[in-house]
Amino acid sequence: MKSAVNRVHVTKYKCKICGERLSTAKNESLIIDDVPENTFNFSKNTVNLHVIACKSCGAVQLVNVPLSADYDAVYRSIGVSVAYREEKKRQIKKFIEVYNLIDAQVIEIGCGNGQFLEMIREVGIEKITGIEAGANNYHECLNKGFNVFHGNLPRVLKKEKLSNLFDAFVSFHYLEHLPNPINFVTCLYEITKTGGVGLIEVPNYDYIEKNNIWLEFTKDHRFYYRKRTICYLLSKCGFDVEFIEENNGGICLTVIVRKLGKSDGIFSAMRNQIQKDIEEFKLMIEGLKGPFAVYGAGHYSQLLINIAHKQYGIKPVYIFDSNKQKCGNKICDVVIEHGNNAINMQNCDNIIVICGIYNDEVFNMLSSSGKKIIKWE
Ligand SMILES: [Zn+2]
Repeated sequence: MKSAVNRVHVTKYKCKICGERLSTAKNESLIIDDVPENTFNFSKNTVNLHVIACKSCGAVQLVNVPLSADYDAVYRSIGVSVAYREEKKRQIKKFIEVYNLIDAQVIEIGCGNGQFLEMIREVGIEKITGIEAGANNYHECLNKGFNVFHGNLPRVLKKEKLSNLFDAFVSFHYLEHLPNPINFVTCLYEITKTGGVGLIEVPNYDYIEKNNIWLEFTKDHRFYYRKRTICYLLSKCGFDVEFIEENNGGICLTVIVRKLGKSDGIFSAMRNQIQKDIEEFKLMIEGLKGPFAVYGAGHYSQLLINIAHKQYGIKPVYIFDSNKQKCGNKICDVVIEHGNNAINMQNCDNIIVICGIYNDEVFNMLSSSGKKIIKWE
């Protein structure tokens, strides 16, 4: 009977990051009782945490633990430690310098009462914006003179039309609080300009696990990220992970991502290159003022001949290849002959070598033929 219960659970739960089916069976879970209901405000009430891990993406996540009503409001107290604040400020300064962001539009997601916004302003960024869901924090930021939107990212993105507006975003210890990380990171991608960068910081589960720091588990951290988990999540949502490091003695993971891609599509450069190469091929043929042969009947040469013939109606009078198995077949109605015939061919003085990595070898072999030999790289 007990195994039947477990089996129901096994088929029911899916990893919220990679979609892998997860077991919630007790022997594969961590159950912690008597966890204070509130992480940041005092409460006598307690909850039980049921923690499971995804073998596929490595995400450690809570199961069936109620979400706090104010889960997206930020509580932090970095001002308490002068040393910690200085370290964070150095980290921000380095990010600004390395990515040349001093005049950039930068946004902090989950900016709390503005503690990081203050540091970002102190290192010289003028155009800093914040997003904060907690009402008190939001008003505190306004009082400090910051430009801050009130709400969570998906709602603010829609309402304020923030698509492709920011050169950079930062988000410190916020992602782990969110119940739908895919939705959140997709929104981060949306607000970032093409070529823009982002810095995300979360607790480092690799370190928590290695040192068995069980006191780190709280109801408000919905996910714990390993290096591979956060790289998977960010990549899945379109970002390129540029850099990842452990810091603050290993307990924090800092990831820097970039939004790659081009406004005219991801294959635009490749399309342009195809057209450029085919035109260059045509110009080279025109420059020969006479018929030409091709040495090489492999994939490269076949593709090039096919496209050039289709677009410009040009094709070789002979095609040669050293591989006997290819001989007798046709490319654009030209029969492939054995390479030995190349030296004695009639009525054609030009041979274009299209043999990929064997180009030099074939070029040297034909160099004594008295024909004009051209390597096509
Ligand atoms: Zn997973």
